[in-house]
Amino acid sequence: MNFQGLDLKSDHKSRKLIRRRLATPPKFRVNLPIKLLTASTAVLLLGFSASNWQPAAKGADSTLKSERLHYALVLPEATVMPQALPTTEAEETTSEENNWHTVTIKSGDTLASIFSKNELSASTTHAIATLNDQTKALRYIRPGQKIHLLLDDQGQLRQMKYEPDITSTVLIQRAEDQSFHSRIINYQLDAYPVYREGVIESSLFEAAASADIPENVIMDLASIFGWDIDFSLDIRKGDKFGIVYNELYKDDVKIRTGRILAAEFINNRKHYRAVYYTDPKGNGDYFDESGRSMRKAFLRSPVEFSRISSKFSNKRWHPVLSKWRSHKGVDYAASRGTPVRASGDGKIVHSGTKGGYGRTIIIQHGSRYTTVYGHLHRYAKGARSGRKVKQGQIIGYVGSSGLATGPHLHYEFRVNGVHRNPLTVRLPEAKPVHSTYLSHFREKTRVYLSMLELMETTVAESQY
Ligand SMILES: [Zn+2]
Repeated sequence: MNFQGLDLKSDHKSRKLIRRRLATPPKFRVNLPIKLLTASTAVLLLGFSASNWQPAAKGADSTLKSERLHYALVLPEATVMPQALPTTEAEETTSEENNWHTVTIKSGDTLASIFSKNELSASTTHAIATLNDQTKALRYIRPGQKIHLLLDDQGQLRQMKYEPDITSTVLIQRAEDQSFHSRIINYQLDAYPVYREGVIESSLFEAAASADIPENVIMDLASIFGWDIDFSLDIRKGDKFGIVYNELYKDDVKIRTGRILAAEFINNRKHYRAVYYTDPKGNGDYFDESGRSMRKAFLRSPVEFSRISSKFSNKRWHPVLSKWRSHKGVDYAASRGTPVRASGDGKIVHSGTKGGYGRTIIIQHGSRYTTVYGHLHRYAKGARSGRKVKQGQIIGYVGSSGLATGPHLHYEFRVNGVHRNPLTVRLPEAKPVHSTYLSHFREKTRVYLSMLELMETTVAESQY
């Protein structure tokens, strides 16, 4: 995948640019509340049976807000702990709740200093700090975090709570025999899907900023479609995209964004759609509507954040040899030391210097495919002949060994020994949804795909 043409580099300048752009009125948010209303109405009218859709218990506040749908979704977020426990502890009676004392950790604080300030003994500090692995987290307390203490009438520690991160709390309690015990309470973040869309005027990044789509979400979008769309070459003014992704909340406070659930990209009038699906075995990935994998068995580009400096051709002027030669690969200009990744699963069959190619790695993928990576500065640790590699694994670093004018990766893609253009060759696909799961796939993905239908309407209206 290649993000060069997108301004997708997360440098300071582009972040500043985004912030400035965000300050200007975003063009494509005007109709959002209406669209969200339409989406939820559609969901209600069509009576989706998806079992994971349930109205969130939000008390009196059951109206739709512009920014989120009030439907709690139980979704497989990697960071959400599976065993969510109630947040209210049986041990805390109402009267005791008022006696909790909260300490906000300041720079330089330690558990010992905090305990000492609260007149707790050194032996208590020791007992807590050495209790078990769960309380080890207290050695790494950070400024801004909170520790809650509950003391008894004699000023002895009865209970203590510490939140090492937003989704968990370590609860420490003193038993009747005066010994301490701890347990971890995990909180599940509430996931609310939102729909956003944008139209590209100059770059995907700016379109995303105008549509109030966070940077990490747009990076995910580019990687989902990166197999089909070369974002450095294929993007056109007027290209359009819609994304359904989760916003994760804790106690009604937005914590961060979650996974993209479904997305559509209209590139040069060609529609690409992807939806996230987790099969009953727990394997999740992106698929198109018919269940074909969005991933291919090969990455389109083995170097991220690069620029194509020379394309595949049958005839070109060779700057070093000063004569006409065909170029049987693609050159990616990148700074020396940029990681080079195996474009597919396979086995290294060559790792060493190879004439004008300089330091070269050749990977065999199954029986038909071979990829070549030339002019390397150095090899990655363990990238030796005979070693198996996974797609995306770093095998070496960009350099200019062999006949090269400057640092770049020379990349070749061979099918049955014949050189093919890596930019245009039809890449074999990764495994589709297993046929026995297809009905499950349709049932689970229908809701998110229906949210994308909103964009279809808009496209028609705007005479794209
Ligand atoms: Zn080359």
